[in-house]
This record gives sequence, C-alpha cells and structure tokens, in this order.
Amino acid sequence: MARTGRPETPLYLRFLAKFRIDPPTQCWNWTGAACRQGYGFLKRKDGVQLRAHRVAYELYNGEIPPGWCVCHRCDNPRCVNPAHLFVGTYRDNAADMVAKGRVARRPGERNPAARLTADQVRCIRSETGSHAQLARRFGVSPTQVGLIKRGKRWAHL
Ligand SMILES: [Zn+2]
Repeated sequence: MARTGRPETPLYLRFLAKFRIDPPTQCWNWTGAACRQGYGFLKRKDGVQLRAHRVAYELYNGEIPPGWCVCHRCDNPRCVNPAHLFVGTYRDNAADMVAKGRVARRPGERNPAARLTADQVRCIRSETGSHAQLARRFGVSPTQVGLIKRGKRWAHL
C-alpha cells in the first residue's frame, strides 16, 4: 500500500522537543518560533498557528474555557511550564499576586494606577474579542482596552 508523505508527529512530541528548562526560575523557555510579543507558537498540520503556552496548558492542565486567556505567573511570555500558567480573570490574577506578595518591577506595573500585569496587557493586545468583552474579562474600562490596543498605554511592551 502506497503512503504519501511522512506520518504526522503528534503535537505533544513536537511540543516536548522545543523548550529548555531554566533551572533557577523553573521556566520552560520555548526554543521554537515566537511571535512579536514573545509568545512561542507551533503550527498544526492544517497551518493553524497554536500558541505554545496554550498548548502546554491544554496538554497538562486540561481544556481552556472558550475565549479565555492563559496567563503566566512568572511573567515570561516564552515560558511553557504548565505549573507557571493559569486561566483566569483579572480578579483571579490580582488575588494571586496579593497572595504571593509579588512586587511589580516594570514601569507600567510600578504606576500605582496600573491595574493590569504586563502579561495581561500582552493578552489584551493579542486577543480578538470586542473591547467591551475584553474590558469585562480583565476588569478595566473599554476605553482602557482601546488605549492598550493602540499602544497609547503600556507602550514599552
Ligand atoms: Zn515560567
């Protein structure tokens, strides 16, 4: 029986071949292709680009609720360590940061009025939902979402 092409390598095997663990931080740094915002991605056989950290989350932690963002506790967009990833709303994330006593170090987060983390800003920029939907999900105003999308806020990212 004739076969055309190579059999497809399963997604999880391709995933496992493409990161390097950084011992001090335990981050699994993606070594494959990455987008402008720093998130790794891999291509499905049909050409669809999958975000590496979303693949990691689904492989290890289970399905991502539709329309939700996967965020990084470590604030490292290249990281695909499932233990560093979580899905949640702005409020979950804020509670998590308070619980861990995390201190913001980046310019946007140093601003006392800042209500988002750098990772959430990257999420907002890369998501396609309406400004109103994103605003609800992240607990900010639609105007702020618009400003973030146009780079008028958090321009350093
Ligand atoms: Zn990490």
